[in-house]
Amino acid sequence: MVRFLYLTGDFAAPAEVIEQLPPDIETNDAHYVDAAGDLLPHTALFAPLIDARSGRPPAARIVDTDGQPVDAVTAAAALVDQQVLSRELERIHSLLCAPCACTLCCVGPDEAMHQAYFEIPLAGGEADRFVVERIDTQASRTHRADDEAPLLVDGRPFYERQAPVLVRWQQGWSLILPRASRCPNLAADGRCRIYPDRPEVCRRPQIFPYVLEPFADEAGPGWRLRRSLLAVLDCPYVRLLQDEIATFAAASELDLVFRHNKA
Ligand code: SF4
Ligand code: SF4
Repeated sequence: MVRFLYLTGDFAAPAEVIEQLPPDIETNDAHYVDAAGDLLPHTALFAPLIDARSGRPPAARIVDTDGQPVDAVTAAAALVDQQVLSRELERIHSLLCAPCACTLCCVGPDEAMHQAYFEIPLAGGEADRFVVERIDTQASRTHRADDEAPLLVDGRPFYERQAPVLVRWQQGWSLILPRASRCPNLAADGRCRIYPDRPEVCRRPQIFPYVLEPFADEAGPGWRLRRSLLAVLDCPYVRLLQDEIATFAAASELDLVFRHNKA
């Protein structure tokens, strides 16, 4: 709605549209009691619309499913949708995850699972939040965790160990949780000891917006228009709320994909 009103109306900025939203908005799928209050803290996410209306090229390379560049308005709308949905789903996740008393994202695979380890990719500076052994060698810096031929450490695959380990891969640091291990920051009562400072990846919901999907080719990195929503069925709140997630996907005009990641 904000996008349509800003691009077709006489507003100086998306924030002006948001400020003038009616207090009570009801659609087929949702009822917003304070849409302006919800959106105003996130006005910066609407910046791509300003570029599109000013005739500036999109800040990122965006192509359709055939690899063809999309027009500037489509690109701006997709960038805004991706960012707004990501922010909204992170907020929903923080409300839903804690009451589940579930630690599935913080432990290695159990004996019944076919995976030998789980990987928690870390952003710059986040490795220092984990006090565990580190592997940072010339060999590790040329590998990725999922390479067909695994990185060998002392003659064995890097994940054949009991305790979690930090590995410096080609693309950066990851925490590796081998089978039956626990994140070193997971307290015995299931709480995260560094909750306010937990890595970005630990804040992500098990419902992923893929309005845009990252890709890279010979022309460099870019985003492909996908317009889908991926929900991971291993998560208890995803299993419980499948109907609501389907409604959310429909309201956001996204194709819904349910998938198991851990088996
Ligand atoms: S840092 Fe916290 S939230 Fe992240 S895996 Fe470890 S215990 Fe879980
Ligand atoms: S599986 Fe879901 S409920 Fe369990 S820790 Fe992960 S996000 Fe939270």
